Amino acid sequence: MKRVLSRRSAADTAEPTDKALFLDLDGTVRKTLVKGKFCPSKPEEQAVLEGRHEKLWEYKKQGYKIFAVTNQGGIGLGLMSKAECEECLEDLNSKLDGVFDDMLYAPAMPMRNDDFTKPNPGMIFHLAEKHKIDLKKSLMVGDRDTDQMAARRGGVPFTWAKDFFK
Ligand SMILES: [Mg+2]
Repeated sequence: MKRVLSRRSAADTAEPTDKALFLDLDGTVRKTLVKGKFCPSKPEEQAVLEGRHEKLWEYKKQGYKIFAVTNQGGIGLGLMSKAECEECLEDLNSKLDGVFDDMLYAPAMPMRNDDFTKPNPGMIFHLAEKHKIDLKKSLMVGDRDTDQMAARRGGVPFTWAKDFFK
């Protein structure tokens, strides 16, 4: 009799069970206070948009992991450093009382077609693997076509920020 052996270990086949809320940041969670500037590069240049604190904590209490997936092309363009970007992300998380479980940013120049930068789903896949997330049970929220496309390519249901936070 032929024996059929699985090469996969129990750990490999364990189904991810956690659900997550993947969030774009600029125009979705935060705004810049500097006229004409789209992305903040200093903590004092950013503010949390209205209603975000309550809504994100509501999801967190329902058991969702809360993740940021943000393109920060300003780094690739030389408009800010990675350290400045990270300082803004830490400040944003502290303004939201630490609601984020993880925050990823893609530093490449805009329109660079690398795996990590939205509309590609690299950041989503990285977080899903790291935190054992079931993408089908999760949700991505954003304000641009690139967010919607990243969600589609990542297999995550998508909602526009204007609908999610209304
Ligand atoms: Mg945005």
